[in-house]
Amino acid sequence: MNPKARRSSRVAIVGGGIIGCATAYCLSRVGISDVTVIERDEIASGASGYSAGILTPYSGSNDPGLLALSAASLELHARLADELPEITGIDHGYDLKPYLRCGFEEPGFDASQQFMADRIAEGLPAEWLSGSEAREVCDWLSDDVVGACATSIEPTVDSKLLTQSLLKAAQTDGAETKIGSAVGFCGPEDAPNGVKLSDGTVVEADAIVLAMGPWTKEANDWLGYDIPVEPQKGELLYMHRPSDEAGDADQGKPSATMHNMDEGGVILTRRLSRTVLGATKEDDRGYDREISEYAWEFILPRVQRLTDRITKNSVTHHTACLRPMPADGKPFVGKAPRRDNVYIASGHWSEGVHYAPLTGKAISDLVATGESSTDIGAIDAARLDDFRRK
Ligand SMILES: Cc1cc2nc3c(=O)[nH]c(=O)nc-3n(C[C@H](O)[C@H](O)[C@H](O)COP(=O)(O)OP(=O)(O)OC[C@H]3O[C@@H](n4cnc5c(N)ncnc54)[C@H](O)[C@@H]3O)c2cc1C
Repeated sequence: MNPKARRSSRVAIVGGGIIGCATAYCLSRVGISDVTVIERDEIASGASGYSAGILTPYSGSNDPGLLALSAASLELHARLADELPEITGIDHGYDLKPYLRCGFEEPGFDASQQFMADRIAEGLPAEWLSGSEAREVCDWLSDDVVGACATSIEPTVDSKLLTQSLLKAAQTDGAETKIGSAVGFCGPEDAPNGVKLSDGTVVEADAIVLAMGPWTKEANDWLGYDIPVEPQKGELLYMHRPSDEAGDADQGKPSATMHNMDEGGVILTRRLSRTVLGATKEDDRGYDREISEYAWEFILPRVQRLTDRITKNSVTHHTACLRPMPADGKPFVGKAPRRDNVYIASGHWSEGVHYAPLTGKAISDLVATGESSTDIGAIDAARLDDFRRK
């Protein structure tokens, strides 16, 4: 426990997604247990409950400053995989399988070879496999795959279970949840002392964390400046797993994640949950969270190029949710400009599950001691002032 922890702090966290729940958990670890997570729907009802669950830093902007924080978050995930199930009894499915980034036509695998060169430049283990070598790693791969970059550096989790487990562990230490919609702050403008809910109640707080995912811009009026985070719609299709009643032996899980690097499209294998087929990215759908035909049209042909084991009938489940997409590709994490006690943890785009432990730790450090033990300069919310000036 951090001796500098201000144990009397009451913290209100707006948003019960993985970022809010990881923050609640990390606060409990530094001795701050008077924490209220305010959620207007259900815990993990947004993207945190419906993500693909891969812990990769390579699906978004690949910004070097953000990439440099990846290893620290992965290390925290490995620690969570050990400690959370002991506290909560929830296995959140942490697992590490090979990842094959596949190319199809020579010399058409520029993207997968470039990916390998970049990882090697970062000092990470990556190996080039011929098509037949790749099929030895995963027998789902079609003969059309002529080469693949193989890595084993990106674990997977079930992000809904992880979010629930983080919150349950925080609750064990005293954190509470409040179901309600936050609509503003109360108290002095530069140091608010509570969060107002739409039913007229107030959650009193010495520190306030905004972890509202794609809905963060609701807080623009509360702060008096814009937080440039927009919703990006994302849909996934799921295959039933062998233990599901509807399953059949031919549709056992693949032994590796397979990625069509030429066109996009991924078949993601996970220990606990169904195999995922993904994913769409649409920037112009606002807050639309309806599943659509477009997901079938986009995803199916791309994953079918990877394997002939997937047909329309393999798909038993379909979800749509919203990524919190930041204007410059990097999340906003840290103290809100011109507020003494408001913190922003938002805009994690397609990598929020991966960066949740790092974010939770940085925010809990800031609340407890005024400083983050990790250098979060690259993602510091202080840069919101630069957007204001633009
Ligand atoms: C299809 C898809 C696949 C993905 N796959 C991956 C992946 O493999 N790996 C990865 O790392 N990331 C992945 N992501 C991204 C990841 O899911 C998100 O970055 C992450 O879940 C964001 O977490 P969050 O807590 O910020 O937001 P959310 O999960 O959206 O949670 C925000 C919460 O705040 C609540 N809220 C908002 N406003 C208010 C208010 N005013 N009052 C009360 N409550 C409020 C909402 O109800 C919501 O529950 C994926 C996303 C999508 C869409």
